[in-house]
Amino acid sequence: MTSSFRWKIFSCLIGGLVQAQNAPDHPSITFEGQTFTPRSILARNMGAPEDQTTAFPPHKIIANLYYVGTRTLSSFLIVTPQGNILIDSTYERNVRTIEKSVGQLGFKFSDVKILLGNHAHGDHQEGDALLKELTGAQVMVVAEDVPALKAIKPGGKEHPVDKILHDGDPVSLGGTTLIAHLTPGHTRGATTWTMKAMEGGKSFDVVLFSSLRSPTTLTPPVIEELNHSFQFVRTLPCDVGLGDHPGEYDMQKKYAKIRTGAPNPFIDPAGCKFEAGMEEAMFRAILVEQSKDEQRKAEQKPGK
Ligand SMILES: [Zn+2]
Repeated sequence: MTSSFRWKIFSCLIGGLVQAQNAPDHPSITFEGQTFTPRSILARNMGAPEDQTTAFPPHKIIANLYYVGTRTLSSFLIVTPQGNILIDSTYERNVRTIEKSVGQLGFKFSDVKILLGNHAHGDHQEGDALLKELTGAQVMVVAEDVPALKAIKPGGKEHPVDKILHDGDPVSLGGTTLIAHLTPGHTRGATTWTMKAMEGGKSFDVVLFSSLRSPTTLTPPVIEELNHSFQFVRTLPCDVGLGDHPGEYDMQKKYAKIRTGAPNPFIDPAGCKFEAGMEEAMFRAILVEQSKDEQRKAEQKPGK
């Protein structure tokens, strides 16, 4: 190999790296004093690969609702006298980790009777088939996400679908009812789940928000979906706001505040509004940028 040829390969590799790092990361928005870009939101949500697969200490959030996910991928367990509901199996490689976290809380994995999901992306629902295999849980999915879920087939396994749900459907087990609210945009069937939690003789509204992260290229149907979803989530009563990634509700900070006798840090009505507000600001900024781009392209067209 000549030295000039070697240099060509080397500079090509370096060029590729520099290009990846310089890939467009805009727009940038400031929301409640914090600056966000599409890349910074993704980094906050996903963390490093080991954050996605390392268990976060399992803990009680409120009443019969527990966290059993990893550092950056949420998985929630709802415990009832008639068995348990799990929301989000996450990646298939995390299912055994979730099983261990459920055990650490003193519950049995085989008591998971119903498996629900946040939205049809691998980091939230890839493990559904394995989780069903291990627990026998019924997998309930929202109609609009069925095609995307069917395409998630780890190791060629068919994605299980035992029951199809629609916007507004209740899912009840052992005295707890979750309501499915279709909040599309991030995926066609992205679902926000709500439930009531009783603690200290009071009832609290829990909202398990779906991802409201906007794609970087917006099509008219997605624009319509997100407009609906942002408007809708603002109408939900909320005392405890959770999300498909713990970074969306500041889990680590809240977890650090858990003290016996102190107020429950997860009860945070003001915090319920942050994520949707920030994601909507990003969505509007992407829309402005996109329409400016389209205008520029239209003006550059020859003729007329
Ligand atoms: Zn997603």
